Amino acid sequence: MPETLPPVRTLPEETAQKIAAGEVIDRPAAVVRELLDNAIDAGARKISVETDKGGIDRIRVSDDGYGMTKEDLAVCRKNHSTSKITSAQDLLAVRTLGFRGEALASIHAVCRMEITSARGGSAYKSLPGGQIVPAVRAKGTLIQADGIFDTFPARKQFLKRPAAETALCRQAFLDKALPWPQIEFRLVTDGTLRFLLSPADSLKTRCLDALQPPESALFFHEITGSGGTFRFTLVLGGPEVVRRDRRSQFVFVNGRRIDEFALRQAVEFGAEGRFPNGLHPFFCLFLQVDPDTADFNIHPAKREVRFRDPGAIHHAVSSVCRDFYRHNVLFSHTQGSGTADSGVFAQTAHEAAGPAPEPRTLFPGGFPDAGPAQHTTGKMPVHFPDIQTAAENGPEYRSGFIRPETGPASGEPDFRYLGQILGTFLAVETGGSLLLIDQHAAHERIMYNEILSHRGEIQELLVPYRIDAPDDAADRSLRQKKRGLAEAGFILKDDGDGFWLVTAVPARWSGSEKELREELLSGAAEPENLVSRLYAAEACRRACKDGDILDPQTARKIAAQALALPEPFCPHGRPVYTVITKEELFRRVKRT
Ligand code: ADP
Ligand code: MG
Repeated sequence: MPETLPPVRTLPEETAQKIAAGEVIDRPAAVVRELLDNAIDAGARKISVETDKGGIDRIRVSDDGYGMTKEDLAVCRKNHSTSKITSAQDLLAVRTLGFRGEALASIHAVCRMEITSARGGSAYKSLPGGQIVPAVRAKGTLIQADGIFDTFPARKQFLKRPAAETALCRQAFLDKALPWPQIEFRLVTDGTLRFLLSPADSLKTRCLDALQPPESALFFHEITGSGGTFRFTLVLGGPEVVRRDRRSQFVFVNGRRIDEFALRQAVEFGAEGRFPNGLHPFFCLFLQVDPDTADFNIHPAKREVRFRDPGAIHHAVSSVCRDFYRHNVLFSHTQGSGTADSGVFAQTAHEAAGPAPEPRTLFPGGFPDAGPAQHTTGKMPVHFPDIQTAAENGPEYRSGFIRPETGPASGEPDFRYLGQILGTFLAVETGGSLLLIDQHAAHERIMYNEILSHRGEIQELLVPYRIDAPDDAADRSLRQKKRGLAEAGFILKDDGDGFWLVTAVPARWSGSEKELREELLSGAAEPENLVSRLYAAEACRRACKDGDILDPQTARKIAAQALALPEPFCPHGRPVYTVITKEELFRRVKRT
């Protein structure tokens, strides 16, 4: 360390500009992003992006927007030059992607930039040195940026390999292409055409064209919602579309990709329970807010936004999403393609904050034989052929053959039970479709609902369970959960020194002391979560298992109850059944 610091000096203009430029333009992808913003702001219908060597060598963005005059060209690369706002007041209601007037100045500061632009029949080019010369161009603007950071080695050394920079440019391109489906976008990297996204009539089409998920388009849905000062479109994968990470989640606010944890969470929150085992939904959320209710001027790349009323937006997004998963998705296949995108969703969506529609089940009114009446013992009568009904069933059941039953007896719901297949599924024909019911998941859900409906009935334990909290934190957490647990039927008493007595458990709960201890100390934070886990574990214990052979009567009963479930998901969030339509089967065997 020197003894004293040198005197304070104002940096030369050029150095200061380079430092400021680095804020906006930190790598080639930022050039792509800013030039795309400008092209979109210029009202372009077609935009083409070319990058060479990850944009480090060259980036060209061409548009057919309204272009610039010779005078515009002379000033647009100067600091704080913009045609989009004229006063600080305007910052409160920005309707364009750009507004700071710093992108072209910053790009100019870190590379050799050339702009060719046409307006009103004449075209000019501004050269890297600043001269403006006549040019040939019919419409719009072409901006070319060469040798990024060539004169800024401090930055250049932080660039990644060209392949990695290409990937970042590609992402910047997609981030702009997704929210503007009406614009044609083209991306060429190192001379190869990577994307040609034709104008699309919906955000869903654009998302599928641009992101190319491997699943069928049938599994993706477009739903909308709104509130006082905002509206949104959510392109959402159904429960069939699962991802191991959150990379297929995009949030846009007024056409800008945003890193907004809270909004992502709003969707994930709405999808809660549908994506078990660390899986995540696929979605693109496009939110439009009144410009004066959001502030984008807090991050150099505008990747953050502040809302005036984040709670209302969060709530609307998660409820629309929850309604979607709860009521519609499993049936979208049986209703033919397109239904999910139009009718039901449009309605759900527009009434984001309104009352939720009635759950739709295959048998809305339920059916006479489905009640839990026969479960007086609290146990579902699962019969096994070798014990009681072997003669009746015959050997086909064990060897996995499907033995179609005759039509439904009177009073039963309108489905035909075909048999148990692969030791795991109950095959059922209904409404022109084949349903495969996951026997364990279905039975588990039925049991779970049954336990829930008897919530509150408790059994005193003759000999209380004694549970030791291994440390102070566990002890504190039990103290916190005590009341919530009591409401669910688990009565705990503090026995001092980190010991707890469990004096009563729910009447329908059959777990052991060890199981209860594990769950209680598992670290589940919320008492509700803990309780639903305890109930789910109980339901799982009571439900028939994969590979259990069910007698047809029991199987039919489980099928009927499964079809009547208002929420056909097992307590862990897996769907209880899957639907295969006749059309789908026909397609598979190439029949039309
Ligand atoms: P900002 O977008 O914040 O206004 P920029 O530095 O990105 O600032 O651009 C400065 C100005 O140059 C813009 O306000 C616009 O008038 C003009 N401009 C930039 N790119 C284009 C384009 N592709 N077509 C038409 N005008 C453009
Ligand atoms: Mg701009």
